Amino acid sequence: MASKEKKLNGTVIVTYRCNARCSMCNRYKAPSKPEEELSIETIKKLPKMYFTNITGGEPFIRTDLPDIVRELYKKSDRIVISTNGFFTDRIVALAKEFPQIGIRISIEGLEKTNNEIRGLENGYQRGYQTLKTLREMGMKDVGFGMTVQDKNAPDLVPLYDISNEMGMEFATASLHNSFYFVEAKNIIHDRPMVAKNFEELVNKLLRSKSPKKWFRAYFNHGLINYIYGQPRLLPCDMSFDTFFIDPYGDVMPCNGTKDKEVMGNLNNQTWEELWNSQEAEKVRSKVRCCDRQCWMIGSVSPAMHKYIWKPAWWVFRHKVKSIFSKTPYSMYENKICCDYRDGKVTKEQLDKCSTCDLNAVISNGLSEASKAQLINKTGEEIVDADIAQQMVK
Ligand code: SF4
Repeated sequence: MASKEKKLNGTVIVTYRCNARCSMCNRYKAPSKPEEELSIETIKKLPKMYFTNITGGEPFIRTDLPDIVRELYKKSDRIVISTNGFFTDRIVALAKEFPQIGIRISIEGLEKTNNEIRGLENGYQRGYQTLKTLREMGMKDVGFGMTVQDKNAPDLVPLYDISNEMGMEFATASLHNSFYFVEAKNIIHDRPMVAKNFEELVNKLLRSKSPKKWFRAYFNHGLINYIYGQPRLLPCDMSFDTFFIDPYGDVMPCNGTKDKEVMGNLNNQTWEELWNSQEAEKVRSKVRCCDRQCWMIGSVSPAMHKYIWKPAWWVFRHKVKSIFSKTPYSMYENKICCDYRDGKVTKEQLDKCSTCDLNAVISNGLSEASKAQLINKTGEEIVDADIAQQMVK
């Protein structure tokens, strides 16, 4: 268990409200009620962190986000905000106050693909322009985040090239199912096609001169393994030195579980009480036998640091190979890719290894009050009205 002084890795979900309409996430249909969302008082109770990710929903929907960031900087060495990039003015204003902050804008492919997947009018142009503005302001820690699926896999390398030309970070993910995404039916259909695009990206990353990119190559190699439904390449230690906190103050191990797993509530408890509670221990024992095999940066980055020798050995071997070959990496290094190609496993068998469950009753992790507001209105109507009201103020 973490000692009092040990710094943790935290993700702060400041809201479940979202103005995008992503095809792989139904969170926009299940928003939190603004009055119930994390208060500054609760944020003050969070522990010291070496890294904090602020996410949503869309975090910039909260007009008090600068107050939250100000408070979090008192306890965190590094902060990165994940956003859809829509509220350009708010993002730019925040970046002026905190030029050291990291901003990751979700872009799901080139313009047409992105706008279809994210369902945001002019989403690509707005995201791209926001990133360009931040770069022109001299911000260093800015980049793209892309969730790869069948539809946008062919855009993976072209989008990486754009981010590279702009000197930006390029974070990838693939489809996951969980209460957080209010989704259980996400699945990759054409695994070899998607893996081939990842393979090309891995080779480009390995050929770069940046050690950070070599380790990104390992992460993307792990994504191929994940989309074939195989066990994680590294152990998952979520809830041991890592936590997520949701808009209601509930502290959770991660955002990958099918239903919400709660270690305690920071509105009603101190951090020490919560972190050392029996409930927290129960969640930790569940994590030890969790079979969801997520491969998202939030759970993999701490593991890559903790078990550094494994990715480091992988990087070393592939860097040596890259002396002799322009394509030092092959997706067929993953035995499962060969087995599938050679007909030793079927698509149906691989589908069964995924977390996709067509019959699942999807939980959304909302409070009773947030659920109640959905009786007469849709989540989209609630959030649209909310934003319209913000705009006239
Ligand atoms: S594998 Fe790890 S991140 Fe995924 S649901 Fe299980 S505990 Fe959470």
